[in-house]
Amino acid sequence: MSTAFIPTTKTTITKKTDLLGLTLPELQQWLEERGEAPFRAKQIYQWLFQHLVTNFSAMTNLPLALRSRLAEEASIGPMIVRSEQHSKDDRTRKILLELEDGKLIESVLMLYPPLGENSARATVCVSTQAGCAFGCTFCATGQMGFDRHLSTGEIVAQTLYFARELRAAPWTAQGLPGSAPIDHITNIVLMGMGEPLHNYDNTLRALRILNSADGFNLGARHMTVSTVGLVPAIRKLSQEQLQVNLAISLHAPTDELRSKTMPVNRKYPIEELIAACQDYIAATRRQVTFEYVLLAGVNDMPVYAHKLGQLLAPLKQFAHVNCIPVNATSADYRPPGGDAIRAFRDILHQHGVSNTVRAERGDDIAAACGQLRTRFESVRRQTISKTDDK
Ligand code: SAH
Ligand code: SF4
Repeated sequence: MSTAFIPTTKTTITKKTDLLGLTLPELQQWLEERGEAPFRAKQIYQWLFQHLVTNFSAMTNLPLALRSRLAEEASIGPMIVRSEQHSKDDRTRKILLELEDGKLIESVLMLYPPLGENSARATVCVSTQAGCAFGCTFCATGQMGFDRHLSTGEIVAQTLYFARELRAAPWTAQGLPGSAPIDHITNIVLMGMGEPLHNYDNTLRALRILNSADGFNLGARHMTVSTVGLVPAIRKLSQEQLQVNLAISLHAPTDELRSKTMPVNRKYPIEELIAACQDYIAATRRQVTFEYVLLAGVNDMPVYAHKLGQLLAPLKQFAHVNCIPVNATSADYRPPGGDAIRAFRDILHQHGVSNTVRAERGDDIAAACGQLRTRFESVRRQTISKTDDK
């Protein structure tokens, strides 16, 4: 037996610093470490988050030497848009992004024209992980398994992508002539791929960066964190002094049912989860939204509406239920009809629990989280296997 000796050459790969992942003090420090003036940080922040530039050469108030140094050592959210789809009415846009290591994630922009007293909204649905470790049975992302956490910069970059798009071409609702065009992002929801509180530190940093008054300046009250119900992380979030909205993916009012569709319930059962929400409310005095994906014949029957009402009634005006007819990602689930949804909501009202129904959007572009990537990868697999067949 002989063992071949393979010589290794040591190559140094210098990874560029993604500036979208740095807070302002961190950027100041990064510049100082390189012998640059820290006051440049604010200028750079304005270029990144207010002018939304993607290129260091556009930063015209920086000395040329600094611009070329930045080009060598730093990057601005390096990712490739692999596909962009717009729904027929152009109210939903979805992008598939390829990260530096080839992982794929999705982000969605949802546009809402002004309605009554509500002004127009442009909401980005942001991913926080590639894949997800929690395996909820109705969720396309959950069925993929977990790839990795996204970096802070990768979370921030998704919002900036759509911000640039709206800045370049403000959106006006079709059929609503005269309504003011929307040219900026008004809200973000962490409801794309992944579990935000499983990637706690990067997620919180991303929210703080987008919130920074020196940069993107999006109010914390315009941000929503949605969680599968990680109890210790919910308790930690209540201490952050950040006025973000909290949404809990509840989806079932009994442990027996919830454990069937959401394996996380075996670790954090409903009683512990509701206790954490009560403490969150006591600490923040903020309302909590409970998401309830309606699965016909599974969790939409009157008996479950009563149990949900009883569970949440003690939280009084601090609980709100968002009923979401499931966006069918597989043959296993289908959304209930209008009558069943109305009956479910009426029962919640009888228990004094406020609720709304969220119409799922963008069906024609597969807007439920994870669906675009699933479709893209199956096409990619088909293409690969066809090539292999040759
Ligand atoms: N991991 C987090 C956030 C991402 S999922 C969470 O679970 O809360 C965002 C929301 O979409 C969650 O409420 C999730 O339960 C819901 N969701 C997942 N699959 C869905 C589907 N097929 N139809 C409708 N909503 C779905
Ligand atoms: Fe993960 Fe949320 Fe999907 Fe559950 S619903 S698998 S937690 S992304």
